[in-house]
Amino acid sequence: MSWVKDRDPEQHEFHQAVQGVLDTIGPVLERNPGYRRLAVVERIIEPERVISFRVPWMDDDGQVQVNRGYRVQMNSALGLYKGGLRFHPSVNLDIIKFLAFEQVFKNALIPLSLGGGKGGADFDPKGKSEGEIMRFCQAFMAELYRHIGPDTDVPAGDIGVGKREIGYLFGMYKKLGNEFTGAFTGKGLLWGGSLIRPEAAGYGMVYFAAEMLATRGKTLEGRRCLISGAGDVALFAAEKVLELGGRVLTLSDSTGFIYDEQGLNLDKMAFVRELKNIRRGRLAEYGERYPDTVYVPCDPRLDYNPLWSFPADCAFPCATENEINGKDAARILAGGVDLVCEGANMPSTPEAVELFLEHKIFYGPGKAANAGGVAVSGLEMVQNSTHLAWSREEVDAKLKVIMKFIHQSCLDTACEYGMPENYVAGANISGFIKVARAMVELGLI
Ligand code: NDP
Repeated sequence: MSWVKDRDPEQHEFHQAVQGVLDTIGPVLERNPGYRRLAVVERIIEPERVISFRVPWMDDDGQVQVNRGYRVQMNSALGLYKGGLRFHPSVNLDIIKFLAFEQVFKNALIPLSLGGGKGGADFDPKGKSEGEIMRFCQAFMAELYRHIGPDTDVPAGDIGVGKREIGYLFGMYKKLGNEFTGAFTGKGLLWGGSLIRPEAAGYGMVYFAAEMLATRGKTLEGRRCLISGAGDVALFAAEKVLELGGRVLTLSDSTGFIYDEQGLNLDKMAFVRELKNIRRGRLAEYGERYPDTVYVPCDPRLDYNPLWSFPADCAFPCATENEINGKDAARILAGGVDLVCEGANMPSTPEAVELFLEHKIFYGPGKAANAGGVAVSGLEMVQNSTHLAWSREEVDAKLKVIMKFIHQSCLDTACEYGMPENYVAGANISGFIKVARAMVELGLI
């Protein structure tokens, strides 16, 4: 860790992600002493390639704006680079490196051969016109297109990059390359997308939670669930929780959260979808529409998020990294939650993770629990390359099988390494072993 920190002292999120993995892979290194001489760990930590580029674009007033774009091609030992693009003002090299690093392990857990990468820009789509979004996406792709391709690097969406942005990005890629290839996933259904791809991370995360509960003969039926976020992952997770008989009490966005004691239903979900996806409004409107509910605006003076303080059975963080700190985790436990399953990437701080593990609740880390997103991206690539389109039921059935497989391999690996039911250790060790073995077999490249 000191080597990692000395090289990039400012990259705190990246350090956190690396530390989380290093904390758990000691037993693998003991069993494979040769890895040290081959510097396998150091090589996994260092990206294969980091691309940083200028994105100049013109706003509606004719003013030229300049953003910074990134693509971190982290590791291709298992296959082409695969991972989403994030457009958010907080994006910098640190954030993209942490996401790319997590992605390598996540992709190693799914039964498809994919390497890991991630990208994005410090561009804020909020408040921008359609024309501005399109011009930005086209300017971003004017540089990125030379670094990606269906056999090299296949991006997808993430925060701030949904179907609309992928349309503009893929459209420009197609024009510049003069070919229609599967160089993107999360595409629209009319132009090569897969059914269930938007749903995949949220649905898959709930399937993973259901698998964890099933190990102790429990189900989601009647369980009170706290969900953060109101994007693709959160809303499809909420939809699946409802379908499996659970109750959804909360949702949040970057301005605040709602608490609905009655629980959301399909009508309320439809309202939120229209509000967030079409009108791109704020959750405060939910509070106005349903006066029996509580809307709580974000309060930057608080060092905890009151969303996590309500009595509940399950917590599903689906917004962003480090959204659950040690104080939130203590409140989650005090409220009776016995299952935390992560739709977002690294939403729990190290203090929170420690508390969850200490209390031996079900804790599904993001890199395993939200891997359904990339898994269905992989299925989209298979459909593109075979020119087939599978039905909703077919893709959903495959997603379920994949989540069951990931859950079981985390469980088996944790057990084999003497840490039964520790899904953090299970996920990190399973992913590490697969990538490390491939790297050794491929030689020093
Ligand atoms: P979206 O952009 O669709 O939604 C993100 C949601 O989280 C929005 O409601 C947003 O609020 C809220 N949010 C974002 N940043 C913050 C912040 N700093 N503070 C508070 N709230 C915030 O993204 P996704 O649903 O796609 O992604 C959510 C998480 O899931 C991310 O961690 C992502 O990396 C991870 N993930 C996504 C996958 C995918 O396929 N999309 C796959 C696997 C993981 P607002 O509405 O105000 O913008």
